[in-house]
Amino acid sequence: MPSLAARKKQTAAESSASRPALLLDWYDRHRRRLPWRAAAGERADPYRVWLSEIMLQQTGVKTVGPYFEKFLARWPDVGALGRASQDDVLRMWAGLGYYSRARNLHACAVAVLRDHGGVFPGSEEGLRQLPGIGPYTARAIAAIAFDIQTMPVDGNIERVVSRLYAVEEPLPQAKPRIQELAATLLGASRAGDSAQALMDLGSSICTPKKPACALCPLNEDCAARLRGDQESFPRKAPKKSGTLRRGAAFIVTRGDELLVRTRAEKGLLGGMTEVPGSDWLAGQDDKAALKQAPELKGITRWHRKVGVVTHVFTHFPLELVIYTADVAARTRPPAGMRWVPVATLADEALPNVMRKAIAHGLD
Ligand code: SF4
Repeated sequence: MPSLAARKKQTAAESSASRPALLLDWYDRHRRRLPWRAAAGERADPYRVWLSEIMLQQTGVKTVGPYFEKFLARWPDVGALGRASQDDVLRMWAGLGYYSRARNLHACAVAVLRDHGGVFPGSEEGLRQLPGIGPYTARAIAAIAFDIQTMPVDGNIERVVSRLYAVEEPLPQAKPRIQELAATLLGASRAGDSAQALMDLGSSICTPKKPACALCPLNEDCAARLRGDQESFPRKAPKKSGTLRRGAAFIVTRGDELLVRTRAEKGLLGGMTEVPGSDWLAGQDDKAALKQAPELKGITRWHRKVGVVTHVFTHFPLELVIYTADVAARTRPPAGMRWVPVATLADEALPNVMRKAIAHGLD
């Protein structure tokens, strides 16, 4: 008769071996229908997987859906996207935020077209060489589009795995451990489905608050559930919130036109359209910001709008004071700036913070 310890060990081994099968079985019955997913049993298109994964970084499924459809209608394959201009891609991306992703998206399509004849490389290593494809995205494409035995770990999977194994180490230090544990949930085949099953489980059942453990296919031996402290996972190191920065934005109209300029190619919101503004600094005061107003003939005083526009970037929150002025017809724009009709602003690559500033200024 085996000892109690040996029996426990055997039971644990059996249950962890059955997890991949339980997961796939659940996925076959409850998989989410998403515009970029292949139908059950069909091989996913690497272009769709890549495009959706880049769009989904820091953006939710609901927001991404319409953008994904728009991109696919305009550029049906990676070659078409590689032949598009970066400006067109940025314009189509406007509103999704984190614009370096759009520039990398375009650079990646150009590289696939130029160096790989318009076909994505079919290995994790090959994918990693492409612009904007980090370890996670390479794993996701490799697993979902090429059925390679690898597990991409996104925020949803991180949460499920950290609960399943009650990982005490806080994020981000726990990432390598969670990656290892997540890989044990891969079945002998269908790597992409195992990954997508975990993603779906995290988004619909093992949610950050009030996980629906009764409906979870892995509930029988989930360590956090057995302890009753599911919501406390994943453990997180205390957050450092960025320091508030302040600045001014200048909304100058010439009849039905607005004064804009293009941001420098490198850095935050690189290459995007903006209204002229001051630097964004932690210690910025109103007088110093106003001194950076654009110089145009006929502006003797700026009108300060009531209230401020607030926006939160990844590393800092921002507060913008909005100044407005109207100038006469035929006033020339300062060097590096241009007039655009307000009616065609939707065609400009305007980041969300600028949309807010313009809306407030033109209100
Ligand atoms: S049992 Fe509950 S906490 Fe554990 S993985 Fe399932 S949903 Fe998450």
